[in-house]
This record gives sequence, structure tokens and C-alpha cells, in this order.
Amino acid sequence: MTSTQGESLPTPGSTERTVIKRLGEKAVADRRIGYDILDAGFVAHVSVIDEQGQPYVVPVGYARDGDDVLFHGSTGSRLFRGLAAGQPTCLTVTLLDGMVLARSTFESSMQYRGVMVLGHCRVLEDADKDRALEVITDHLLPGRWSEARHPSNKELAATLVLALPLDEMSVKVSAGPPEDEEDDLSRPIWAGVVPLTEAFGVPVSAPDLVEPFPVPDYVSKWRRPLPPKEPRQ
Ligand SMILES: Cc1cc2nc3c(=O)[nH]c(=O)nc-3n(C[C@H](O)[C@H](O)[C@H](O)COP(=O)(O)OP(=O)(O)OC[C@H]3O[C@@H](n4cnc5c(N)ncnc54)[C@H](O)[C@@H]3O)c2cc1C
Repeated sequence: MTSTQGESLPTPGSTERTVIKRLGEKAVADRRIGYDILDAGFVAHVSVIDEQGQPYVVPVGYARDGDDVLFHGSTGSRLFRGLAAGQPTCLTVTLLDGMVLARSTFESSMQYRGVMVLGHCRVLEDADKDRALEVITDHLLPGRWSEARHPSNKELAATLVLALPLDEMSVKVSAGPPEDEEDDLSRPIWAGVVPLTEAFGVPVSAPDLVEPFPVPDYVSKWRRPLPPKEPRQ
């Protein structure tokens, strides 16, 4: 992964179409916080519109690599081919941190950290493609690339690898307790936050391992560091 933090790129939420208007106080202008969110996620949702004009939102595994988000799909997928041909897209990553239970259902919400990216993908080829597959693999499970079998030429030919630049993005973070209407505060209704955390379980070996061997350390000790959360009053 390259170390750039997008120093020369537009501040998140600063372009006309990324200004967060609804609950603008949840907008985060710090690109590093957006990158932390991307580094903590596993699944991105990518929009594509088919030849009939039907929009689709496709979940994909991904990785951030410097100022790009990398993901891959089948060369046989008309949706991915559309992205490869230069269709505009929108990609989101959301981390869910908690359920916010207000006294009223209207004010009830969720704590979250989310990134939205607008732009066009470019197709990665040759060494860039190989490297992107390594970056994606090691983002999902660090160390896996060095153990797993790498893609064959036939598998590579069946795989489209795309990079979406993080030039135009927005970051929205919702945190803190419920914000009830003044009139509701005296009601005898419990209010608060139920935190949500993502946790890894105990690895389960495949039933068809060629020989019984222990789970490697990089798998059993795999823990993803939690990204810093924006303290918000
Ligand atoms: C887990 C979760 C649950 C949510 N539940 C609801 C719900 O039930 N109802 C609801 O109305 N909203 C909900 N939201 C917020 C929702 O994602 C939108 O932010 C909101 O609906 C405002 O949309 P808009 O197009 O009017 O925003 P605008 O502020 O007009 O959008 C302008 C620009 O702001 C940016 N932007 C908007 N939303 C986000 C975002 N979430 N993350 C990053 N950038 C963003 C985009 O660049 C967009 O083009 C939820 C968000 C999350 C993450």
C-alpha cells in the first residue's frame, strides 16, 4: 500500500456534488478519517447502470491503495464491463457503530462512519493488476498472499481489476447520544445507544485439508485494529 494521504486532492465534501447538506454537522472534512474508514471496512457497494438504464448496487470486497479504491469482478459481468468502459459510478463504505434509541422513533437513528466516492474507474493491467490483487487479498487477510496460490493466467484473464480514484469523496460520521425533542425528555422511556462491534470468530478448518495442520498464526491472530472514532459533542 502506498503511503500517500491525498494531500493534493480536494477536501472531502468540498465539491459541488459532495457537499453534505442533510445534517451537515456530521460532515467530516479530514481525508485521513475517510481513509481510516476505508481501511477498516471489508465491503464496498458500487453502483452501475445497465444498458436498459436499470441501476444496480453491487457489494464487493475492496482495498484502499493510496488514493485509489481497488476491487475486482468477472470479465463476464456486464455490470463490471460497464464500469471498465468508463461509466460514472458511486461507491460507498459504511461502518455501523451502534443503534441510537431516542424516546421518539423519529429521532431514533444509528451511529455510523461512512465514505462516498464519485468518479470513473480505470482498468488495471499487467503488473498493476497483479499488485492490486495482492493488495486486495492482504487487506482482507494480511499475510494471505504469501501463503495462497496466486492466480493462473486463465484466472487473471477472467478477472477485471478496477481502480476508483479517491479524488471526489465525502465523509459522514454520526456519533453521540440520541437527541430528543425537549418535550420528550421527561417521558418514562429508556433512551441511549446500543453499541455494535464486528468481531472475528474462531477459525474453522476446511474438511478437505490434505493433512491435518494447525491454523497458521497469521489467521488465528488476525485482529483488525479499530480505527479512531471522531469524538463528537
Ligand atoms: C447506516 C446508515 C443508516 C442511515 N439511515 C438513514 C435513514 O434511515 N434515513 C435517511 O434519510 N438517511 C439515513 N442515513 C443517511 C443517508 O445516508 C444520507 O446521508 C441522507 O439520507 C441524506 O441524503 P441526501 O442525498 O439528502 O444528502 P445530501 O446531504 O443532499 O447529499 C449531498 C452529498 O453528501 C454526501 N453524502 C450524503 N450522504 C452521505 C453518507 N451517508 N456518507 C457519505 N457521504 C454522504 C454525498 O457526496 C452526496 O452527494 C443513513 C446513513 C447510514 C450510514
